Amino acid sequence: MRKTLTAIIALTLAFSAAAQEKTYPQPEPMRPGMTEFWTPQPKIVTPGDILTNSAPSDAVVLFDGRNLNAWQSANGGEAKWTVHDGVFTVNKSAGDIITKESFGSFQLHLEWCVPTNITGTSQARGNSGVYLQDKYEIQILDCYNNETYANGQTGSVYKQVIPLANAMRKPGEWNVYDIIYSAPVFNEDGTYKVAPTVTVIQNGIVLLNNFTIRGTTEYIGHPKVVPHGDGPIRLQSHGDKSEPISFRNIWLRKM
Ligand code: MG
Repeated sequence: MRKTLTAIIALTLAFSAAAQEKTYPQPEPMRPGMTEFWTPQPKIVTPGDILTNSAPSDAVVLFDGRNLNAWQSANGGEAKWTVHDGVFTVNKSAGDIITKESFGSFQLHLEWCVPTNITGTSQARGNSGVYLQDKYEIQILDCYNNETYANGQTGSVYKQVIPLANAMRKPGEWNVYDIIYSAPVFNEDGTYKVAPTVTVIQNGIVLLNNFTIRGTTEYIGHPKVVPHGDGPIRLQSHGDKSEPISFRNIWLRKM
């Protein structure tokens, strides 16, 4: 009798514990709309006309064939490179030029052409360059049938990386650069918290794929990490004696 009573009490306790076990709401079953976002809608940007080489509707136009109003000499004063026939040509005696406006991250489009009478070899042949935020040079050089050190050829972050391809068009033809650049973020001690990165496409061919820039592009010595904010685009007037190259159709989209 006592054994039966004990069993009944044990069973009763077990049932009551089960009855007290809490239940919680379960996640709703997933429906397609739960992973579809409708806002914000990407802004509408009207592409440029590919036949007339015009800029997209939201671009900062840095050169449209008419004047160098968006530029100044890197030494101060007017940009004294030569505008003619819808293009402008490096004036080596006038030094580098920089944009008047400064930029953070951007997409940059520019076209450049090596003259057909180009002379010189290696780095002394159609050398120029486009500096991102005035710090990091993407090399511009006539590398058509012209070998040089590989980490200094066209499309390199100068002396930091060998481009994935040599996509040069021959002298007299226009080369097209599309450069996608993410500006760095700095720690308080001046080191990179997030290093700058760059993708370079020349004539539709990827030369650099999201390359992490190591610092300034030095001719002598290693890259330096120098804290900076927004900066201008700089075009290089290189000291070599070869015939100067020309530029056209330059625009930039801020990101
Ligand atoms: Mg250069």
